[in-house]
Amino acid sequence: MTQPQRFSAAMPGTIDTALRHRLLRDDGQEDICLVTYAPSTGATRTSALMREIVPPKPAERAVHGNASFTGDYVVRAASLAAEQGLGIALAHSHPHGAGWQQMSGPDEDAERSFAHLAHAITGHDLFGMTLAGNGAWSARRWSADAHSTEAESVRVVDSHLRVTWNDALRPVPTPQDSQIRTISGWGEQTQGALARLRVLIVGAGSIGHDIAIRLAATGLVHVAVMDFDDLERVNLDRMPTATQIDIALRRSKTKHALRQLRLAATASNPDLHGFENSICEDLGQRIALDYDVIFSCVDRPWPRAVLNQLAYSDLIPVIDGGIAIDPFADGNGMRNATWRSHVLRPGRPCMVCTRQLDPAEVTLDQQGLLEDPEYIRQSERQEPARQNVAALAISPTASQLAQFISLAVAPGGLGEPGPLQYVLSTHHLMALPTPPNAECFFEQTTGLGDARVELTNTHEAAERTRAARRRAQRTTRVRIARAGDILLTSAQQKWAAMTCPAPPR
Ligand SMILES: [Zn+2]
Ligand SMILES: [Zn+2]
Repeated sequence: MTQPQRFSAAMPGTIDTALRHRLLRDDGQEDICLVTYAPSTGATRTSALMREIVPPKPAERAVHGNASFTGDYVVRAASLAAEQGLGIALAHSHPHGAGWQQMSGPDEDAERSFAHLAHAITGHDLFGMTLAGNGAWSARRWSADAHSTEAESVRVVDSHLRVTWNDALRPVPTPQDSQIRTISGWGEQTQGALARLRVLIVGAGSIGHDIAIRLAATGLVHVAVMDFDDLERVNLDRMPTATQIDIALRRSKTKHALRQLRLAATASNPDLHGFENSICEDLGQRIALDYDVIFSCVDRPWPRAVLNQLAYSDLIPVIDGGIAIDPFADGNGMRNATWRSHVLRPGRPCMVCTRQLDPAEVTLDQQGLLEDPEYIRQSERQEPARQNVAALAISPTASQLAQFISLAVAPGGLGEPGPLQYVLSTHHLMALPTPPNAECFFEQTTGLGDARVELTNTHEAAERTRAARRRAQRTTRVRIARAGDILLTSAQQKWAAMTCPAPPR
């Protein structure tokens, strides 16, 4: 794995509000302050998660149009950060600026002069942050030898996920003719912000697969799916794009989803990825830390626990949901069906607090006992009910996608609505109560980043499934079928190119 080359910064809405209050002064002058941060190290991106504001003492900074500060202030804040294993960020304001800010000469000199000191005391790189008068953030990271690298984005995680993009590193995707109807729904500026979000869908079963395709069709450039599992016959009713051929070829759910994503994507330069990992594996988790929003489309307790944690510890909003179908006990008729959706983020209850996740089940899942027929028999557990009617499967998908749009676009200025539940028998949509829980373990991990309690480990089921798939793919029968499929696909592409020389979209 190559070292992370990309940088980003993130903060919960509460810290953004406090910093705005402090740095955007009524008298219109620039101001500065130091903030501690925790690193969150992904496979290719490191994010600085803002933790705690360290306000300057009166003698430590002076405001005179722009702002100056003393070395003592940096030493005091860095020492405080070092005690907690954190780094420091130097934040200042450009009250008359808007959007991603360029550095002035004095800005660069000030940050450069403290880069080495900050690193020496904390062991972490210095981050520079600028807050523009319109609330836009920009950021850069300074190495110990005082070289700066621009960040690609700054994320404020609130009911509305507000991201300031560095247009130089993450240019606005060019609108496409095929997106005219979508763009007319919210305008080019919103499309430009939305299309740059990096979104990971964990679980490429029917719901995850449908969500991924809708996002790629909406024009999102960076869409990825993660699933180690095989496509199976029981998936076919809810995945109209999957066929018996996919099963005969032993395609993974991820490979299948990736093929469909490539067909559905409307971005001019889509960057689509499929990972045959489990989020419970160390590599799976590190990959996830490269993303801005994650969809949770898995039903097992362990992966849900990992995602539940990342939403808080690494400030990556997780959109979770599911469907429960309740047949009558004699198997004759349906009593009810419900589907629900919610965004996990600081300020909203976690899956444990909303009873969507039982910590005791997580331990059993980690031990592999939920797969063990002997354990299931001895403990007199019910086999997990996995009813899902094809005609209804799209409803939880739609509910999760609507939560995503509320989070990322905030129609009417309102962000995500909190947990929702739809009751099919009466056709009622209910907002579920969200009592704050000060005791919540996961809320208390907010912004811990790499200091999180690691829930990842070797995932034996994932390793077994991948190994069995590789063995099956080497058999003569599958190899012949695969060669036939490649010929057929290439003939289809040639036919499409001959009959419609312009791009089909
Ligand atoms: Zn400045
Ligand atoms: Zn909780």
